[in-house]
Amino acid sequence: MTNSDGLVSLVGAGPGDPELLTVKALRRLREADVVVYDRLVSDAVMELVPHGVTRIYVGKARGHHHLPQEEINRLLLNMARGGYRVVRLKGGDPFIFGRGSEEAAVLARHGMAFEVVPGITAATACSAYAGIPLTHRGLARGVSFVTGQCRAGGSGDMDWERLVHADTTLVIYMGLQNLDDIVWRLLEAGLEPATPAALIENGTQDGQRRLVTTVARLPAAAVQEAVRAPALAIVGRVVSLAGSLDWFRPARATDTDTRDRDHALQA
Ligand code: SAH
Repeated sequence: MTNSDGLVSLVGAGPGDPELLTVKALRRLREADVVVYDRLVSDAVMELVPHGVTRIYVGKARGHHHLPQEEINRLLLNMARGGYRVVRLKGGDPFIFGRGSEEAAVLARHGMAFEVVPGITAATACSAYAGIPLTHRGLARGVSFVTGQCRAGGSGDMDWERLVHADTTLVIYMGLQNLDDIVWRLLEAGLEPATPAALIENGTQDGQRRLVTTVARLPAAAVQEAVRAPALAIVGRVVSLAGSLDWFRPARATDTDTRDRDHALQA
């Protein structure tokens, strides 16, 4: 193989359920020389990587990176220069809160061949598996995907007022740590406290947990139910359909609906 054959495929691994991989993603995994993967890529997806393919874990735990981003960039660049077919496997979609675009920019800057294989992002996957349509006639005419984490470490710099509309669903990635702050800002921006809200932990996986409550109760309910990352928050009237559209039966499911109780508030 010559150097010119090197290619980095930035591949979306989807939210966990291996059957949510695209056909193209699976093909790239089968053809790879090296797979460079993150913490969010599920074990079930990694089981699809053929034996003999080199696996490099560069997972990030919140707060401390296993490998700094610059080193990940350098690693991808060097392997591509070495002529390898590199799969850079990321949870969900590589271009949604995945820093895939930063890695692509580095490759582009150095003239390395790359491609992007989109994946099913947590917002669409977790909502579907939780029985929550992100839009629904009469309930939501739009949807916003936002991050609950800001560079400064708080949710302060987001323009929450612009995001708050009764007929727009809000999907918050990486919001678990700042949930108190986020909810406070949403209410301050005028969101109705009784607006239905959900947290989905380990969406699409055997251990999926779904917590349905109101936005005002969300932070306390998250503490009370000990919700852990990865978890996605969905806020909006569409969450009211979660009961009737519930269809997914994960192997180790727990489902909590705290709308009719107020213990979550007292936690
Ligand atoms: N690129 C990814 C998002 C990375 S940011 C994507 O497109 O999905 C990481 C955040 O995604 C987590 O903090 C969580 O909010 C969300 N997330 C990813 N996978 C998830 C899952 N299986 N269940 C719940 N939330 C998930």
